[in-house]
Amino acid sequence: MYDVIIIGAGVVGCALARKLSQYDAKIAVLDAAEDVADGASKANSGIVHAGFDAKPGTKKAYYNVKGAAMYASLARELGVPYNPIGALVIGFTEEDRETLNKLLRQGIQNGVQELRVIERDEILALEPNTNPDVLCALLVPTSAVVSPYEMTLALSYHAAQNGAEFIFDSPVEKISESAGVWHVSTPKGTLEARAIVNCAGVGAAELHNQISDEPVKIIPRRGEYYLLDSTVKCPFSRTMFQVPGKMGKGVLISPTAHGNALLGPSAEDIADGTDTRTTRFGLDFVLDKCRLTWPKVTTRSVITTFSGVRAHPATDDFIIGPVHGAPDNAFEAIGIESPGLSAAPAIAEELGELVAERLKLPGARFVRPAVPLLKPFAAMTEEERAAACKRNPEYGRIVCRCEVIPEAEIRDAIRRPVGARSIDGVKRRTRAGMGRCQGGFCSPRVMEILCEELHCSPLEITKCGGESKLLAGTLNEIAKEARGHA
Ligand SMILES: Cc1cc2nc3c(=O)[nH]c(=O)nc-3n(C[C@H](O)[C@H](O)[C@H](O)COP(=O)(O)OP(=O)(O)OC[C@H]3O[C@@H](n4cnc5c(N)ncnc54)[C@H](O)[C@@H]3O)c2cc1C
Repeated sequence: MYDVIIIGAGVVGCALARKLSQYDAKIAVLDAAEDVADGASKANSGIVHAGFDAKPGTKKAYYNVKGAAMYASLARELGVPYNPIGALVIGFTEEDRETLNKLLRQGIQNGVQELRVIERDEILALEPNTNPDVLCALLVPTSAVVSPYEMTLALSYHAAQNGAEFIFDSPVEKISESAGVWHVSTPKGTLEARAIVNCAGVGAAELHNQISDEPVKIIPRRGEYYLLDSTVKCPFSRTMFQVPGKMGKGVLISPTAHGNALLGPSAEDIADGTDTRTTRFGLDFVLDKCRLTWPKVTTRSVITTFSGVRAHPATDDFIIGPVHGAPDNAFEAIGIESPGLSAAPAIAEELGELVAERLKLPGARFVRPAVPLLKPFAAMTEEERAAACKRNPEYGRIVCRCEVIPEAEIRDAIRRPVGARSIDGVKRRTRAGMGRCQGGFCSPRVMEILCEELHCSPLEITKCGGESKLLAGTLNEIAKEARGHA
């Protein structure tokens, strides 16, 4: 019997698990996927929004501003790449200027500091690659970028260090309550808990509607991106937004926390929240919009395209707290679309305290401090690299040449709590496969290391869990089958 079962191992579920693991409580995090951060938390813009965009008085505004203020110290504590680069929202017409002034007033009302509207000359002095037709912009010095999946992973590591259990490949099919006990059913069996927290992203409405007589609607809204090679310098040093529209914050160009240029996202309502295809239509839309910010935009240095799906709530605001119309001790943080990454630390802080108070969870006698992510080999000085190789010769064997990732870091990513079990799991933890060749060179070696560490056959290794096996069979088996057909 668990005290709390959290459904969904995205940034919200993992931040909440970390918060609750600081109490004396038995916590489980269930996810349908094979790893942490498989939903929106791995495929977003990675912006820690300052908080000028959300309507004052909404939960989005409140948790965004509070969460963003927690980011710098959280990222430092966990060792996650975070860069307070600031942002510009650019406008081209007098109508855009009105919208920017509205955003300025909104931001001030939400408590965002240092905002101001600036004119063309200042914009071009700050960001010389901006379209010279620009008229004015909102300058947002407190905006930042973070590596969203590394933040989610680091939150899960810290939660696991303090005893939270992570259970993957476990899609929750049914939840029900009887005599004060919650039953959470997956194809692997049923778990029991005193309380549940629904943090299931685009899958959350289905679970909410099983237990509440006040149904909610969540609309999957896909956003597609281009990612450029990190060897090509991003033409902008800040995040460059355009004036937002009805479907969200619009298309941006931004350096990521790792220095690649990111272009996107589009915004398209879709039927299936798991449909993370990229489309010609979505990518052309992104390119067209980016041309307005950066007329010289080109796809020559694109190394990949990807998409993420927002969990857009029909009410247009986050739904956080006890589940209305459901038995006691069911909680939720759902409809967490953008700025959910920015808001996650604050959501976890307050929701965690609420759950702990309702269950009367005692404080833990000892809370292990986070073990920050190690400085990557790629970022070390020559002296640091030499010392690392001396300490452990596996640092001297480079597996991913594009991103300079040594064998030692890949083995560490598999061995740590909530370790990698797939090629993509290794990629998100180490960056092996994130470079120009997109894993063409290093995947076979990563696969061998996974087999050695997990004591399994290469036939069992997947790209990202489920049916995504990389090998169809051994040459012997294939030859035997061919002989059988002859
Ligand atoms: C295109 C895009 C751009 C964005 N840009 C930004 C940005 O720049 N800044 C920002 O602050 N926010 C941004 N966001 C929003 C941010 O990514 C999300 O708010 C945040 O990741 C939501 O986290 P989550 O944990 O609620 O959901 P997710 O990360 O989606 O996690 C939900 C998890 O639940 C699991 N799950 C679902 N159903 C079930 C089930 N039945 N049983 C078990 N597990 C289940 C899924 O596998 C998934 O792992 C963006 C989102 C998108 C899509």
